[in-house]
Amino acid sequence: MELLLATTNLHKIREFKDMLKSKSLSHLEVLSLHQFPDYVAPEETSLTFKGNAILKAEHAAKQLKKWTLADDSGLVVPALGGEPGIYSSRYAGSQATDADNRQKLLRAMQNLESPEERAAYFECCLALSSPDGLKKCVQGICEGFIVKEPKGRYGFGYDALFAKHDYGEKTFAELTEGVKNRISHRCKAFERMAVFLENLRD
Ligand code: IMP
Repeated sequence: MELLLATTNLHKIREFKDMLKSKSLSHLEVLSLHQFPDYVAPEETSLTFKGNAILKAEHAAKQLKKWTLADDSGLVVPALGGEPGIYSSRYAGSQATDADNRQKLLRAMQNLESPEERAAYFECCLALSSPDGLKKCVQGICEGFIVKEPKGRYGFGYDALFAKHDYGEKTFAELTEGVKNRISHRCKAFERMAVFLENLRD
Protein backbone atom coordinates (compact mmCIF):
# COMPACT_ATOMS: atom_id res chain seq x y z
CA MET A 1 0.00 0.00 0.00
CA GLU A 2 1.25 3.47 -0.89
CA LEU A 3 1.85 6.17 1.70
CA LEU A 4 2.69 9.68 0.51
CA LEU A 5 4.95 11.85 2.66
CA ALA A 6 3.76 15.41 1.98
CA THR A 7 7.21 16.94 1.87
CA THR A 8 10.17 17.57 -0.42
CA ASN A 9 12.57 17.90 2.53
CA LEU A 10 15.13 15.15 1.89
CA HIS A 11 16.18 15.06 5.56
CA LYS A 12 12.61 14.50 6.75
CA ILE A 13 12.09 11.84 4.06
CA ARG A 14 15.23 9.98 5.15
CA GLU A 15 14.27 10.19 8.80
CA PHE A 16 10.77 8.84 8.08
CA LYS A 17 12.10 6.00 5.94
CA ASP A 18 14.47 5.04 8.74
CA MET A 19 11.67 5.14 11.34
CA LEU A 20 9.30 3.13 9.12
CA LYS A 21 12.01 0.51 8.72
CA SER A 22 12.64 0.32 12.45
CA LYS A 23 8.92 -0.34 13.02
CA SER A 24 8.79 -3.07 10.35
CA LEU A 25 6.19 -1.14 8.36
CA SER A 26 7.50 -2.67 5.15
CA HIS A 27 4.00 -3.13 3.71
CA LEU A 28 4.02 0.65 3.09
CA GLU A 29 5.54 1.88 -0.14
CA VAL A 30 6.76 5.37 0.63
CA LEU A 31 6.26 8.16 -1.90
CA SER A 32 7.17 11.82 -1.50
CA LEU A 33 6.23 15.03 -3.27
CA HIS A 34 9.33 14.59 -5.44
CA GLN A 35 7.22 12.10 -7.43
CA PHE A 36 4.56 14.78 -8.05
CA PRO A 37 6.46 17.78 -9.43
CA ASP A 38 3.27 19.50 -10.65
CA TYR A 39 1.65 19.45 -7.20
CA VAL A 40 1.33 22.88 -5.61
CA ALA A 41 1.40 22.70 -1.80
CA PRO A 42 -1.07 24.87 0.15
CA GLU A 43 0.02 28.01 1.99
CA GLU A 44 0.72 27.24 5.65
CA THR A 45 -1.84 29.68 7.04
CA SER A 46 -2.48 28.14 10.45
CA LEU A 47 -0.85 29.60 13.56
CA THR A 48 -0.18 26.17 15.05
CA PHE A 49 1.97 23.17 14.08
CA LYS A 50 -1.11 20.98 14.35
CA GLY A 51 -3.17 23.20 12.05
CA ASN A 52 -0.45 23.31 9.41
CA ALA A 53 0.17 19.54 9.55
CA ILE A 54 -3.54 18.91 9.00
CA LEU A 55 -3.72 21.45 6.20
CA LYS A 56 -0.76 19.85 4.38
CA ALA A 57 -1.99 16.26 4.85
CA GLU A 58 -5.59 16.87 3.78
CA HIS A 59 -4.64 18.98 0.77
CA ALA A 60 -2.13 16.49 -0.67
CA ALA A 61 -4.39 13.49 0.10
CA LYS A 62 -7.36 15.06 -1.69
CA GLN A 63 -5.44 16.45 -4.66
CA LEU A 64 -3.28 13.38 -5.27
CA LYS A 65 -5.80 10.78 -4.06
CA LYS A 66 -3.31 9.02 -1.80
CA TRP A 67 -3.11 8.23 1.89
CA THR A 68 -0.81 10.99 3.13
CA LEU A 69 1.37 11.68 6.16
CA ALA A 70 2.37 15.32 6.73
CA ASP A 71 4.83 16.73 9.25
CA ASP A 72 4.81 20.27 10.55
CA SER A 73 7.59 20.96 12.99
CA GLY A 74 9.86 23.61 14.40
CA LEU A 75 11.90 24.95 17.25
CA VAL A 76 10.34 26.85 20.17
CA VAL A 77 12.41 29.11 22.46
CA PRO A 78 10.35 30.26 25.48
CA ALA A 79 12.80 33.13 26.25
CA LEU A 80 12.04 34.53 22.79
CA GLY A 81 8.28 34.35 23.32
CA GLY A 82 8.07 31.06 21.40
CA GLU A 83 10.10 32.13 18.35
CA PRO A 84 10.94 30.86 15.78
CA GLY A 85 7.99 28.42 16.26
CA ILE A 86 5.83 27.91 13.20
CA TYR A 87 8.13 30.28 11.32
CA SER A 88 11.20 28.07 11.91
CA SER A 89 11.96 27.41 8.23
CA ARG A 90 11.60 31.10 7.29
CA TYR A 91 12.80 32.77 10.52
CA ALA A 92 15.39 34.93 8.72
CA GLY A 93 13.13 35.56 5.71
CA SER A 94 11.26 33.64 3.00
CA GLN A 95 14.48 32.85 1.09
CA ALA A 96 16.56 32.13 4.21
CA THR A 97 18.90 29.16 4.37
CA ASP A 98 19.24 26.96 7.46
CA ALA A 99 22.53 28.76 8.19
CA ASP A 100 20.79 32.19 8.02
CA ASN A 101 18.14 30.97 10.45
CA ARG A 102 20.73 29.59 12.87
CA GLN A 103 22.68 32.83 12.78
CA LYS A 104 19.57 34.91 13.48
CA LEU A 105 18.71 32.66 16.42
CA LEU A 106 22.19 32.93 17.94
CA ARG A 107 22.05 36.73 17.66
CA ALA A 108 18.61 36.89 19.26
CA MET A 109 19.94 34.80 22.18
CA GLN A 110 23.34 36.44 22.61
CA ASN A 111 22.46 37.95 26.00
CA LEU A 112 21.08 34.72 27.42
CA GLU A 113 23.71 32.84 29.38
CA SER A 114 22.57 29.79 31.33
CA PRO A 115 21.15 26.57 29.83
CA GLU A 116 17.92 27.42 31.71
CA GLU A 117 17.63 30.77 29.91
CA ARG A 118 18.61 29.06 26.67
CA ALA A 119 15.94 26.35 27.06
CA ALA A 120 14.24 25.25 23.84
CA TYR A 121 12.17 22.42 22.47
CA PHE A 122 11.43 20.91 19.11
CA GLU A 123 7.80 20.14 18.36
CA CYS A 124 6.51 17.86 15.61
CA CYS A 125 2.88 17.35 14.61
CA LEU A 126 2.07 14.50 12.25
CA ALA A 127 -1.25 14.33 10.42
CA LEU A 128 -2.52 11.27 8.55
CA SER A 129 -5.21 11.81 5.93
CA SER A 130 -6.99 9.59 3.44
CA PRO A 131 -8.40 11.14 0.24
CA ASP A 132 -11.66 11.49 2.24
CA GLY A 133 -10.13 13.57 5.03
CA LEU A 134 -8.18 13.56 8.29
CA LYS A 135 -7.79 10.28 10.16
CA LYS A 136 -5.33 11.07 12.96
CA CYS A 137 -3.07 13.82 14.28
CA VAL A 138 -0.35 13.30 16.92
CA GLN A 139 2.38 15.40 18.54
CA GLY A 140 5.90 14.84 19.81
CA ILE A 141 8.19 17.14 21.79
CA CYS A 142 11.91 17.00 22.54
CA GLU A 143 13.33 19.31 25.23
CA GLY A 144 16.82 20.73 25.45
CA PHE A 145 18.72 23.98 25.08
CA ILE A 146 20.51 26.10 22.46
CA VAL A 147 24.31 25.94 22.48
CA LYS A 148 26.40 29.06 21.83
CA GLU A 149 27.84 28.10 18.46
CA PRO A 150 26.93 25.57 15.75
CA LYS A 151 28.47 22.10 16.22
CA GLY A 152 28.27 18.89 14.20
CA ARG A 153 27.86 17.83 10.61
CA TYR A 154 24.69 15.73 10.57
CA GLY A 155 21.05 16.71 10.25
CA PHE A 156 19.46 19.94 9.07
CA GLY A 157 17.73 23.11 10.26
CA TYR A 158 18.60 23.91 13.87
CA ASP A 159 20.23 20.53 14.62
CA ALA A 160 23.70 22.08 14.96
CA LEU A 161 22.41 24.38 17.74
CA PHE A 162 20.14 22.05 19.72
CA ALA A 163 21.35 19.86 22.56
CA LYS A 164 18.92 17.49 24.25
CA HIS A 165 19.05 17.15 28.04
CA ASP A 166 20.98 13.95 29.01
CA TYR A 167 23.23 14.23 25.98
CA GLY A 168 25.64 16.72 27.57
CA GLU A 169 26.57 19.54 25.23
CA LYS A 170 26.29 17.29 22.17
CA THR A 171 24.02 18.79 19.53
CA PHE A 172 21.63 16.80 17.33
CA ALA A 173 24.09 17.42 14.48
CA GLU A 174 26.79 15.58 16.44
CA LEU A 175 24.59 12.51 16.90
CA THR A 176 24.23 10.05 14.05
CA GLU A 177 20.87 9.99 12.31
CA GLY A 178 20.16 6.60 13.87
CA VAL A 179 20.52 8.05 17.37
CA LYS A 180 18.55 11.22 16.56
CA ASN A 181 15.75 9.07 15.12
CA ARG A 182 15.36 7.26 18.44
CA ILE A 183 15.04 10.38 20.59
CA SER A 184 13.72 13.23 18.44
CA HIS A 185 10.38 15.06 18.48
CA ARG A 186 9.66 13.42 15.09
CA CYS A 187 10.37 9.97 16.51
CA LYS A 188 8.07 10.60 19.50
CA ALA A 189 5.24 11.68 17.21
CA PHE A 190 5.96 8.77 14.88
CA GLU A 191 5.76 6.27 17.78
CA ARG A 192 2.21 7.50 18.38
CA MET A 193 1.31 7.28 14.69
CA ALA A 194 2.90 3.87 14.04
CA VAL A 195 -0.02 1.87 15.44
CA PHE A 196 -2.35 3.49 12.88
CA LEU A 197 0.10 2.90 10.06
CA GLU A 198 0.35 -0.79 10.98
CA ASN A 199 -3.35 -1.14 10.25
CA LEU A 200 -3.24 0.61 6.87
CA ARG A 201 -3.97 -2.00 4.21
CA ASP A 202 -5.37 -1.78 0.68
P1 IMP B 1 8.25 22.76 8.03
O1 IMP B 1 8.90 22.01 6.91
O2 IMP B 1 7.35 23.85 7.58
O3 IMP B 1 7.60 21.83 9.00
O4 IMP B 1 9.43 23.53 8.81
C1 IMP B 1 10.25 22.81 9.61
C2 IMP B 1 11.43 23.68 10.03
O5 IMP B 1 11.62 23.53 11.44
C3 IMP B 1 12.72 23.21 9.37
O6 IMP B 1 13.00 23.93 8.20
C4 IMP B 1 13.76 23.45 10.46
O7 IMP B 1 14.17 24.79 10.42
C5 IMP B 1 12.96 23.23 11.74
N1 IMP B 1 13.04 21.80 12.15
C6 IMP B 1 12.01 20.91 12.22
N2 IMP B 1 12.44 19.71 12.61
C7 IMP B 1 13.76 19.83 12.77
C8 IMP B 1 14.76 18.89 13.14
O8 IMP B 1 14.54 17.69 13.35
N3 IMP B 1 16.01 19.39 13.22
C9 IMP B 1 16.33 20.70 12.97
N4 IMP B 1 15.43 21.59 12.60
C10 IMP B 1 14.14 21.17 12.49
